[in-house]
Amino acid sequence: MMLEMLPLETALEVLVGRAKILHKEVVELLSAHGRVLAQDIFAPINQPPFDRSPLDGYALRGADIAAAAPGVPARLRVTENVPAGYLARGRVETGTAMRIMTGAPIPAGADTVVRVEDTREKDGWVEVFVSLAPGSNIVRTGEDIRQGEMVLKGGRLLNAPEIGVLAALGIPRVEVFKRPRVAILSTGDELVALERELTPGKIYNSNLYALAASVLEAGGEPVPLGSVADRPEEIARKISEGLGKSDLVLTTGGASVGEHDRIREAMTCSGADLLFWKIKMKPGTPVVAGEASGKLILGLSGNPAAALISFEVLVRPLIRKMAGFDKLYRPRLTVKLLEDFRKQGKQRRFLRARVGVVDGELCARLSSAQSPGVLKSLLSTNSLLDVTGGRGPLSKGEQVEAILTGDLIGPGRS
Ligand code: AMP
Ligand code: MG
Repeated sequence: MMLEMLPLETALEVLVGRAKILHKEVVELLSAHGRVLAQDIFAPINQPPFDRSPLDGYALRGADIAAAAPGVPARLRVTENVPAGYLARGRVETGTAMRIMTGAPIPAGADTVVRVEDTREKDGWVEVFVSLAPGSNIVRTGEDIRQGEMVLKGGRLLNAPEIGVLAALGIPRVEVFKRPRVAILSTGDELVALERELTPGKIYNSNLYALAASVLEAGGEPVPLGSVADRPEEIARKISEGLGKSDLVLTTGGASVGEHDRIREAMTCSGADLLFWKIKMKPGTPVVAGEASGKLILGLSGNPAAALISFEVLVRPLIRKMAGFDKLYRPRLTVKLLEDFRKQGKQRRFLRARVGVVDGELCARLSSAQSPGVLKSLLSTNSLLDVTGGRGPLSKGEQVEAILTGDLIGPGRS
């Protein structure tokens, strides 16, 4: 039985619960950047792999400089020079020191390193003007990462620091999840491809691009299917094509109240079972969800902003689940509203806003136009304010919950 008018969270449960995590593949370390790690990584070696000096100075025995002070230096004979990458030939014995560089291994017999700024070297002898506790200035083997320790957990996005840690451990290849392929189809008689001339009554097919870009940002691989006219048989044919080429199919248009039967009919016609229709949220109420041969099909509103907002709250978590991410959702913050929002509604709303810090406090200013067809206001949006259904008009100064969808920036002027 098809569910109707669901809370967003229920719709997410239905979709995320059915999502299949895709296969894994092994890739070269640099190609793993921006991918999701599919294995837990245990350190094969210690980092650092040996006791080393964190600075340029002298390796010595702490006991030899116990009485040193600015006016009364300890005098030690310099026996060797130890650059990074080389082992000392001999040992540090009582009364001697070795010149040591940052990153060089601590020579046997030494237990302390004194920085060069606290010394003066002349004719093979060094004067040390400080006393340090034995053990000072030595980075111990495994201090950063201990051999056998789990350093990275599967499900994590690999950015520069993760790639750096893997490289430091000498791991040249890692297992990552395959990116889910997401077919995107726009429906509507009015749609024109970007390469074509815009004739009267027509508009460019912007949803295809906006959703394809959103798929990339969510960690998927877009498979654009162009646009089709509002004819169920044609839409069904394209949906079937999409099912053959991808792991998830998205359509836009033809899902709104007057037109809903068209996209539902097309889904049924392509052999899909309908899972639900409509979600309790604005914009983006008219969502149709279906499933065919174990793959999900989602029909979103054609309204450009509604399509992107539905994508954000409904489709993005689904794609992230399929992509193997451990975290599916954006961070939520409580913010102070900097202006009134008078419009009241029974339905839960996602308002476009700009969140930033003003006088040390997280504040939100509404992006100008909130209507579902207006795309431009998304340009000045970094958050969606999640306003519960039935809540009265919002006043300046009220606390609201925000989903952070972009970078935190100054809220600026509306
Ligand atoms: P619909 O969901 O088909 O009722 O469409 C709602 C509004 O979105 C209408 O104004 C459509 O012209 C517009 N629209 C539908 N599909 C697209 C698209 N692919 N790109 C841009 N606008 C669209
Ligand atoms: Mg339409």
